[in-house]
Amino acid sequence: MGTKKTGSANHLFPRDWRKSYPVVDRGEGIYLWDKDGRRYIDGAGGAAVVTVGHGNREVIEAMRSQAERVCFPYVGNFLSEAQMELADKVISFAPPGMSRVYFVSGGSEATEVAIKIARQYHLLRGKEGKVKIISRWLSYHGATLGALSLSGHSQRRKDYLPYLTDSPHIAPPYCYRCPFELSYPACHIRCAEELERTIKMIGAENIAAFIAEPIIGNTAGAVVPPAEYYPIIRDICDRFDILFLLDEVFTGFGRTGRSFAIDHWGVCPDMLIFGKGISSGYAPLGGVVIHEKIFDVFYHSPSSGFFLGYTYSGNPLACSAGMAVLNYIEKNHLIEECARKGAYLREKASRLKNHPMVGDLRGKGLLLGLELVSSREGKKPFPREMRVAETLTAIAMSKGLLLMSGSGVSDGVAGDHLIIAPPLTITTEELDLLIDLLEASLKEWWGKHQQEDSW
Ligand code: PLP
Repeated sequence: MGTKKTGSANHLFPRDWRKSYPVVDRGEGIYLWDKDGRRYIDGAGGAAVVTVGHGNREVIEAMRSQAERVCFPYVGNFLSEAQMELADKVISFAPPGMSRVYFVSGGSEATEVAIKIARQYHLLRGKEGKVKIISRWLSYHGATLGALSLSGHSQRRKDYLPYLTDSPHIAPPYCYRCPFELSYPACHIRCAEELERTIKMIGAENIAAFIAEPIIGNTAGAVVPPAEYYPIIRDICDRFDILFLLDEVFTGFGRTGRSFAIDHWGVCPDMLIFGKGISSGYAPLGGVVIHEKIFDVFYHSPSSGFFLGYTYSGNPLACSAGMAVLNYIEKNHLIEECARKGAYLREKASRLKNHPMVGDLRGKGLLLGLELVSSREGKKPFPREMRVAETLTAIAMSKGLLLMSGSGVSDGVAGDHLIIAPPLTITTEELDLLIDLLEASLKEWWGKHQQEDSW
């Protein structure tokens, strides 16, 4: 155990007990303040959560008004207006053909629901054998055991392997370090064809679904697949009667400059998993958008529902937050603004490409990833023991900039990346400040470590 904390933190089970956390005091716009009065730019929107900024009066008012009416009807007894209105709104953001929404309290729960709906969909059609869900390495679909079984981040999985189900993982569409050592476009999108090869090996009669993040966020630092990738995936899923589950928890509701990131590819999934940005962090909220073709099977089956529910499913207070966030996004054209500001961010950030430790800059809209390398020519990752991404986020935090860091992008263990995903309300002047602080952090790390010979 690390040193015992003073004050009320003594009774918390913290995420990292070696780390000293400041205590947050308040938030406004893109800024958070701690109890010591220090200001931070929320440069990663927490973890790609905050879309409409902190302290948003319209969201707070909507939640206050809902709280004064009712906060908790049990889902087994009532529907709520908040839940119904939000479902309509979510469908208006979703690709055509998506028609139903199942609400839960976050991304992991949403993945669990999608797994169960996929299973039940095939059962109702008499296809009992279609059980397995194929996913990709370098992915993250949540911390609960079903979602973690699908996730392809070896470090997050390793301690819990005995509890995880046997789910096949295929190579990700990661051009910077192509798993097949090919180059685009001569590769003919081998990574997408890998899905077909895997399906044939296992037998389509055993496979329920394929799950993927449209842009790989959390675990790979905003990896964007080539234009052909999702149309090929969609076609393969259709040909083998396999559902395409799309995880938009990190990318949904405007983050990439389109309503959903999959809109960049013009492809429609069978289920779309969401969380984070829909409530901008004002309340725990997530869910699954379901294609009409799936609901149709449920609707015309002898069973009358999907019974494995959650107590907080469709909670009116959470839904009122979601509704106010989506209204705010629409009213202020934040998705169009995100595309515009994303282009600005990319242009400003392009100077970082000259920094010796920046191997790759990628992403879309206000989602930018930096892959950090010890040598740009050989794309050599830093040794994991150096904890480069974590050290850099600590330096940035000391300068008043919050970033998100990740590791394992090269081989599951080594490979550091940083993610920038500020609130969509950020101004171009604030983006300038963010990039200046990021550059100063890279310079500080480099200045301290460039003489070391351990890498
Ligand atoms: N799916 C993706 C793509 C995510 O990035 C995350 C969280 O980072 C999750 C699912 C899990 O969401 P939650 O942490 O809300 O359970």
